[in-house]
Amino acid sequence: MTQAATAKENRKFEAETKQLLDLMVHSIYTNREIFLRELISNASDALDKIRFESLTNQDLLEGNSNFEIFLLPDEATNTLTISDNGIGMTYDEVIQNIGTIAKSGTKVFLEKLKENGSSNDNDLIGQFGVGFYSAFMVAKKVTMQTRAPGQARGIRWESTGDGSYTIEECDKDTRGTTIILTLQDEHASSDHPNENFLDKHVLESLVKKYSDYIRYPIKMNFIKEEKPLDADGKVIEDAPVKETIEVRTLNSMTPLWTRNKNEITQEEYSLFYKNLFHDWEDPLEIIHSKVEGAVEYTTVLFIPAHAPFDFYQRESTSGIQLYSKNVFIMDNCLDLLPEYLRFIRGLVDSPDFSLNISRELLQQSSQLKLVGKNLEKSVLKTLETMITKDRPKYEKFWHEYGKAIKSGVYSDFHSRDKLQNLLLFPSSHAATELTTLADYISRMAEGQAVIYYATGKDRAQVERLPQMELLKEKNIEVLYLLDRVDEFAIEALGNYQEKKFQSISRGDLNLDDIGSPEQKQAADDTAKENQSLLSAVKEALAGKITEVKISSRLKSSPVCLVSSSNGISLAMEQILAEMDKPLYKANRILELNPTHQVFAALKKQYETDSSSDAFKDYCELLYGQALLMEGLIPEDPAAFAIKVAKLMADTDK
Ligand code: ADP
Repeated sequence: MTQAATAKENRKFEAETKQLLDLMVHSIYTNREIFLRELISNASDALDKIRFESLTNQDLLEGNSNFEIFLLPDEATNTLTISDNGIGMTYDEVIQNIGTIAKSGTKVFLEKLKENGSSNDNDLIGQFGVGFYSAFMVAKKVTMQTRAPGQARGIRWESTGDGSYTIEECDKDTRGTTIILTLQDEHASSDHPNENFLDKHVLESLVKKYSDYIRYPIKMNFIKEEKPLDADGKVIEDAPVKETIEVRTLNSMTPLWTRNKNEITQEEYSLFYKNLFHDWEDPLEIIHSKVEGAVEYTTVLFIPAHAPFDFYQRESTSGIQLYSKNVFIMDNCLDLLPEYLRFIRGLVDSPDFSLNISRELLQQSSQLKLVGKNLEKSVLKTLETMITKDRPKYEKFWHEYGKAIKSGVYSDFHSRDKLQNLLLFPSSHAATELTTLADYISRMAEGQAVIYYATGKDRAQVERLPQMELLKEKNIEVLYLLDRVDEFAIEALGNYQEKKFQSISRGDLNLDDIGSPEQKQAADDTAKENQSLLSAVKEALAGKITEVKISSRLKSSPVCLVSSSNGISLAMEQILAEMDKPLYKANRILELNPTHQVFAALKKQYETDSSSDAFKDYCELLYGQALLMEGLIPEDPAAFAIKVAKLMADTDK
């Protein structure tokens, strides 16, 4: 139920809003003019909303369907008024939308501001959607009057940005929102010609610069001074000048996508993108196409230069805008592109889309599905071209969105074949360069049957893995899977160009295939000889490991931990545990290096007294070491440390 505001109330902003306001008031920004873009964009959104809702409920229009935005500078009162006949706000909505910052991004915004000092900061405004408050960069007082359709009275909200605001009911005939900015003195004088926001020409050029494509007319009154004409249509020179008011529309309203591709400059695309999607950077890539066929549409898609700060953390709210014959239907349509392409911004305009369509119906729309498929194809094609023709650009893309592409590999079965060619990994082949799977295959030695990979937190950790040593010695390239999603993607692929993926820490390494049958044979023989020792180690570590083996993959390390080729890997076990799914456990196999001195020492302990504490301690210590080398912590670190200390003391005896 909407709460009635009978009396004027004085309310305090919530703490975070106040912090934000302080920043705006004591403006550290250099580019203050963008406040106008922000307020116009809010007005345009409000118009979109009423237009959309009125499709199913004509009454909301209250007979007024000339959607427009009006600018009114007034030197006498030192105010700039921006009004719209959009959706307006109820009392509750004003408190909700303007009095509080409900958005989770705001905190991050504030933190970023602090981090960045004053450089680049105004750019953050748009990105974090704190647009309304930017009014306080130029105004000493902001008054808002707003009325939602169907409400008898309007709401008046006012603040000087000092930590509190007032809110009360008011009379308001017209639907929508009027924002009156009482300008700070410096912005109402002509001392800074470009920052005089009462100057109509300044306002006109700002609208052209930032808001030209807004789909609703942005109007302003101009005074026309004319001398009257005589009966023949000639100017009467000695008559006094007559002033008439002329309403002019400041923006061209021509949607960029309807224009011919060859006539649009890169700057125009960039500006269009930045205005429409509140970004401060030029997009990394632009895809503009017109398609005629089973379904007809025009699309402009953008790959933003940077992923949003929260891209990998929460449900993304971005998506594609839908239009039908230049008329906006819907923002953030998430049903068009697959989840893994959710970083793509842009729009689709199709005469086949129905204007009057609900989100539910939209999901079932076959045209939309068809368009979606086509868009996905054209994005993938663009990326394929980029990876071959412009590798540095693709690497930038990869840095931002690689994880999303990898998640597509395991979540999007249909696109897997295409996505696998877009994958990049670090590898032992080069210190910094990334490799595609195709490049890896092209470098494989004859007889190498599988693609080797290692998982770890970073390059250094992977390179220190005992299992790496032998492969390095044999000059076999290993892919480094350093992202937590990597192994899921690789597992989903299973193989590439018919070469299976093989973790260097799982199952048998098939070293025969890479030319060491002797080593394998030697390991088999040693295993047979030491069968009872291996069983005793297994027993000593019962519950922790499933098997003990003689290793054919170790060189200078005494021990390593691997997992069996069936079941999950150790790395995957860690990820699942972090995701609170600790039910899945890898089959841990302890591999011992028979050529290492430690093996001899273990054997000696075993032969001296296989039931002694000393033997059991040795087993525990080896297992602990193996865990540490995998970057894991022994289950009881204190006990492990005590055993190490004891061993050192014993050695000294
Ligand atoms: P954003 O526009 O990014 O959501 P703002 O701080 O600019 O952030 O606006 C907060 C909210 O206030 C908007 O989401 C909208 O619901 C409401 N609002 C702002 N301006 C208007 C307006 N002119 N008409 C109706 N609602 C508005």
